[in-house]
Amino acid sequence: MKKLRRYIVPLVCLTLLLTWIHVSRLSHGHLVVNFLNVGQGDSILIQTPSDKIILIDGGPGTSVLTELNDVLPFLEKDIDLMVLTHPHSDHIEGLVAVLKRYNVDAALITGVSYTNSYYEEFLKDLPLEADVYFASAEHDFDFGDGVFLDVLYPFDEISGKEFDNLNNSSIVIRLIYGDTAILLTGDAEIEVEEMLLSEGVLLSSDILKAGHHGSRTASSTAFVQAVSPGIVVIECGSDNSFGHPHDEAMTIFEEIGADVYRTDLDGRVTMVF
Ligand SMILES: [Zn+2]
Repeated sequence: MKKLRRYIVPLVCLTLLLTWIHVSRLSHGHLVVNFLNVGQGDSILIQTPSDKIILIDGGPGTSVLTELNDVLPFLEKDIDLMVLTHPHSDHIEGLVAVLKRYNVDAALITGVSYTNSYYEEFLKDLPLEADVYFASAEHDFDFGDGVFLDVLYPFDEISGKEFDNLNNSSIVIRLIYGDTAILLTGDAEIEVEEMLLSEGVLLSSDILKAGHHGSRTASSTAFVQAVSPGIVVIECGSDNSFGHPHDEAMTIFEEIGADVYRTDLDGRVTMVF
């Protein structure tokens, strides 16, 4: 009996601890957006008020797994929607690792033609039973609780197409929750920004995830003014060889008076709505 008690007490304590960790990481009726700290790349985790999980890009390497371990409820192994904005390795590599550890119910991709071993592995590892959607502005996603993923770009499906500049195949999403809007632009550059502006797409958003890691090839003055964000988040790695974020983009964010958060300086950026 004594022997049994020796095991039971730690076991009960461990179960209580794990349950507490699990419960403490539920969204508790809020929308939680985490700009994960994955170094020089993008990865954004969205938890809806009813704990649906959306993962947009996975960054380079496998640091996304550590980030997900830190923020997701302990027992959460399901991803309701995985979004691959475009198949450059600083967006896709971590998703390949996530596919091996988590159940993915649905994926939103462009299906562009591009040669990259991670892309091949990603497409091969997508579960057969997962719903796969090819991005188009015609198809938006309603997650309930007032959470919408409004796909702004590409305007039409681009599956099978080749791009001279793959960044400009990036899926651009406006996440809407009640009165709040968050614009997530992948690595879309000024050419895409100009297309969105000339099409008169509603861009106005409270928060902007700076395009292409704060590069000068994105975040034109006209675009940033149309978005008019109060907060800009830049996902980039410290001492990255590209020099991101570039001074030109930082000046534009400063001029419109936005607060800027950077994963290289601030680590993971978490917002609760
Ligand atoms: Zn990138």
